[in-house]
Amino acid sequence: MSDISGSTLLRDVTVITVDQRRRIILNGFILVQDGRITHVSSKPPDKLPEDVRIMSLPGRIVIPGLINSHAHLAQSLLRGLAEDLPLHSWLCDRIWPLEAAYRGEGDAADGYVAARLTIGEMLLSGTTCFLEAMLTHGSGFANVARAVSEMGIRACLVSRPKCLHQLITSMLSTRLTNDDDKGKLVKFVETNPALGIADARDKDPDHMSIPSLLAAHSEFHGTSNDRIHVWAACGTPRGAPLSSFAEAGKACQQHDIGITMHCAEAPRDLSIFRDVYGDRTPMQFCRDAGLTGPKTVLAHMCHPRHGYRPGHPEGIADHGGAQPDEQPQARVGHRRGGPDAQSGGAHEALEMATIRGAKALGLETEIGSLGVGKKADLVVLDVRASWAAPWSPEMFPRGGMDPVSLVVGSCTGRDVTHVMVDGRMLVEDGRLLVADESAIVQSARQAVAGIQERSGVRASWKAGWEYE
Ligand SMILES: [Zn+2]
Repeated sequence: MSDISGSTLLRDVTVITVDQRRRIILNGFILVQDGRITHVSSKPPDKLPEDVRIMSLPGRIVIPGLINSHAHLAQSLLRGLAEDLPLHSWLCDRIWPLEAAYRGEGDAADGYVAARLTIGEMLLSGTTCFLEAMLTHGSGFANVARAVSEMGIRACLVSRPKCLHQLITSMLSTRLTNDDDKGKLVKFVETNPALGIADARDKDPDHMSIPSLLAAHSEFHGTSNDRIHVWAACGTPRGAPLSSFAEAGKACQQHDIGITMHCAEAPRDLSIFRDVYGDRTPMQFCRDAGLTGPKTVLAHMCHPRHGYRPGHPEGIADHGGAQPDEQPQARVGHRRGGPDAQSGGAHEALEMATIRGAKALGLETEIGSLGVGKKADLVVLDVRASWAAPWSPEMFPRGGMDPVSLVVGSCTGRDVTHVMVDGRMLVEDGRLLVADESAIVQSARQAVAGIQERSGVRASWKAGWEYE
C-alpha cells in the first residue's frame, strides 16, 4: 500500500482546527488530496476530485492528530512488570534488565513486536506522531523504523550518541565488543558504581558513537515520505562528564539534528546535578553542554529546582506503556502547575497535544493543526456516547458546551473512530487497518515470555493480597 492515497472529503463534522485563528467549525468540510488538506471550511469545496471518497460523519468531532513528545516504544511489552517502585530501582532492578534481554530477528524481533504493539495502541487512541526518547540496542533501530514505516504513523526516532563510555567501562573493568552495526541503538552507558546505579544494558555491544548517530540519520532521516525523522537522545546525566554531552550537542548542531534528553526525572537526579556537575541546575547543565537550541526537547523537567523558565513550546507525552505515570493519549486533561484552573485549561492542553507539540519537534509548518496546505494528520472522535452528553453542535451557539472542553474533559481513546496520517486512513470505525490487532497481542505475549525468562525478572505480587 502506498503512503499517500487518493482524496477524502469529511463532511457534517465539527472541526477544531487549532489553526492560527483557532477556528472551530460546527458543521464543517475537510478535503484531503494527495496527503494534504486542501479545504477546511463551513462551506463545501467548489469542486471535488473525481475519485474522492465522501464520508458524512455527523456527531463526530475532528481534531489534529495528537503528538506524543516522549515515548519509549520498547517498554509497552513490560507493562505491569515494575509497579510501585521509586524511579532508580524501577530502572536498575526491573526495566533495564528486562530491556537488556530483548532479542530476535525479523517478525519475531522483540523490538519489532514492541514497536507494533505501541504504535497500534497510539493510533487507536488518536496519536499520529511521536518522539521516541531512547531506543535500546536490544530493540534495534531498524526494527522500530520498519514498524513505523509499515504502520503509517509519523515518528522522530532517536539514535543515542556515545558518552564517555571508555571511562565508565574502565571503571567497571568490563570489555565491550564493537561490531559496528550502524543504525541500531545506541545509548549512553549509565552504569555508575559511585552513585550505586547499574544498567544491565551496558553489556550490549557499543553502538553509541556519534558516527553511528550520523549513519542512522543519513540512512533513515526523511524516509517513508518524510514520516521518519532521526534525532539524538541523551539520558539524565548520572556521572558521565559534561564534555561528552557537549560533544553530542556540537555534532547535532553541525548536522541540524534534533536532540532530546531525559532531564531531572527524580528528586535524586537534582542532587547528582548539584554534586557531580558543579552545583548546576539541569537547565544550566543543558545550556553549558550546548544541548539547547531550536530542536531540543527536554523531558520531565517537573521539579521546582530544575531551572526551567516557561516560554518554550510544551508538549504532552505518555512516556511509554511501562511507566508508572502513564496517561491515555486522547485524554489531554493536563493542567500545568497543579489543580488551579487558571494555570492551564482545556484549550491550552489541546494546544500542547497538537500545535505546541509540533513546534517542539520543528514540524509546526507541516502538522499540529488543520489548515490548507498542512499534512493530513487528523483524528475523528465519536461524541454521541453518554459520557459526552449533553454536548451538541446545535446547543453551542446558544451558550452550550465548548467542544474543546468536551474533547479534553470527557473524551478518551475509546472515542477515536478514524485516524489519518499523510492522508492515509490507518484506523477506521475503531479498527486498525494497517495491522492485525489480535496478531500483535499474540506476538507480544510470546515476546514478553522470552524476555522474562532471559532476564529472570518477575512482577511482584502484592503483599497482603491472596493470588489463587
Ligand atoms: Zn523517558
